[in-house]
Amino acid sequence: EQNVESHVFEADVARLLHMMVHSVYSDKDVFLRELISNAADACEKLRYEAIETPALLGSDAESRITLSLDEENRRLVVEDNGIGMQRDEMIEALGTIARSGTRAFMDRIAASKGGEGAQLIGQFGVGFYSCFMVADRVDVVSRHAGSDQASKWSSDGKGSYSVGPVDLAEAPERGTRIVLHLMEDAKKYTSRWTVERIVKEQSGHVPVAIRLIEKPDSEPVQITDGTALWTKSKSEVSKEEYTDFYRGVSGQYDEPALTVHFRAEGRHEYTALAFVPGTQPFDMFDPERKGRMKLYVKRVYITDDAELMPRYLRFVRGLVDTADLPLNVSREMIQESSILAAIRKGVTNRVITAIEKLADSEPETYLKFWENFGAVLKEGVYEDYERRTQLMALARFRTSTSVDGYRSLAEYVKDAKEGQNAVYYLAGSSVDQLKASPQLEGFRARGIEVLLLTDSVDSFWVVNAPEFEGKVFKSITQGAADLSRFPTADGQIPQEQDSAGLATFIGFAREKLAAQVADVRASDRLTESAVCLVAPEDGYDRQMEKILQNAGR
Ligand code: ADP
Ligand code: MG
Repeated sequence: EQNVESHVFEADVARLLHMMVHSVYSDKDVFLRELISNAADACEKLRYEAIETPALLGSDAESRITLSLDEENRRLVVEDNGIGMQRDEMIEALGTIARSGTRAFMDRIAASKGGEGAQLIGQFGVGFYSCFMVADRVDVVSRHAGSDQASKWSSDGKGSYSVGPVDLAEAPERGTRIVLHLMEDAKKYTSRWTVERIVKEQSGHVPVAIRLIEKPDSEPVQITDGTALWTKSKSEVSKEEYTDFYRGVSGQYDEPALTVHFRAEGRHEYTALAFVPGTQPFDMFDPERKGRMKLYVKRVYITDDAELMPRYLRFVRGLVDTADLPLNVSREMIQESSILAAIRKGVTNRVITAIEKLADSEPETYLKFWENFGAVLKEGVYEDYERRTQLMALARFRTSTSVDGYRSLAEYVKDAKEGQNAVYYLAGSSVDQLKASPQLEGFRARGIEVLLLTDSVDSFWVVNAPEFEGKVFKSITQGAADLSRFPTADGQIPQEQDSAGLATFIGFAREKLAAQVADVRASDRLTESAVCLVAPEDGYDRQMEKILQNAGR
């Protein structure tokens, strides 16, 4: 062959492939789900492009995915008539780690101890490369819609790949054909029953019909009809179907913690199917803080960039399908559309309501949700003015009286001391460090509960939070503790220690430390320790000072 170039994989890809090949993970079936999901994405991209350029569809307007089995040659072929790839796109998409989930996955591998990698593959989709779990050679032949050239990408998954042109006769008329030369022990993927079962189970509701060709010369048989799951009514969909769909749409391999499926009618018409994952998605703490909810217009996939959820709900996965927008909706329209703003509000309300319901009816399960997503949800307290009280009510905390369990603000307020007009908190980097803080001594002695805040977002929302049921948020490392009015556990109100000796000592300390501190005061904050540092009344508390210092302010 001429013009066939050889390339080595990006270092990370080579590492990932090595792991794929040596994976001991038993559930290799997932590779099929990944390839089908890519094929469906390619069909949806073409449908979208064809709105502007109908000629791209030619005489073949119907999307489909075809699986062909060849037991004799131990081959499985996944073919779609979607958008296809040009030569350069192949190098870009198949030779580098493009998708952020895969990138995050590799970071996680790098941080993990050896051997864990194979388990991680099972938990998270790693896209196209998963086919090297079952194949020792993979050929990708593709022809981009509207192009008169086709290319072939080929690799044994061991460090390098080749790309070159192929005759049009050897390529699909449009789209991508992926040929898996299966390993000896992956022979079962040429059996019709096995493949049909896996496809129905994992990919039964992708919105593109899937056909199966059992033997090289047999006729294709349709095995799924491409009916979009979200167009069905709730009562027609089983829990398993929701889970399969969730896994497909989210790239997660877990069970959803919450499923919110509804059709809105009236002023705006749309269907939403949203899931709260059962575990943290990998990209949750990406600095971009992007959501992944997909926007469909009349069942045509438009974008996952429409910010259909507020940032503090970016862990929610799923889609919204509406008939109220034109198919050729532009990026600018998406940003300014009042229809989308209304949809966003509607979906956000439903998701939050579902979270509230969970908190009420299944408090134990809710704590799991909170451990996964609380740190993100709290961003809403300073980002979503309208819903901040609602979000504060959802928050759960470790506190000085409950270092292992969780407490809500409502519980805190109910158990507050007579005359206590603040919600006291102490912010820092870990509960263990905080619970040993001398700052807590005086509060402990008086049985006053203190929230222990350890998420970095905490220092931000507490300073912006409104009162909660009439109590202001107050850092115990800041200003006067003013604990003198509360009796200690033995019922005593400690006497003012206003002796002349104390005054002399404070004068002495002030003079000696004049360059280091603004003031020296007697405090009822401490019971055992002799001294602690406190931030001034107005300004930042100690943890916030540290955060700002680290940020270079
Ligand atoms: P992801 O699907 O999350 O982007 P993958 O590893 O599954 O990650 O795929 C990487 C990229 O390869 C895709 O984004 C796409 O650009 C390209 N690709 C893979 N399969 C196909 C296909 N069947 N048709 C067109 N492009 C594809
Ligand atoms: Mg993919």
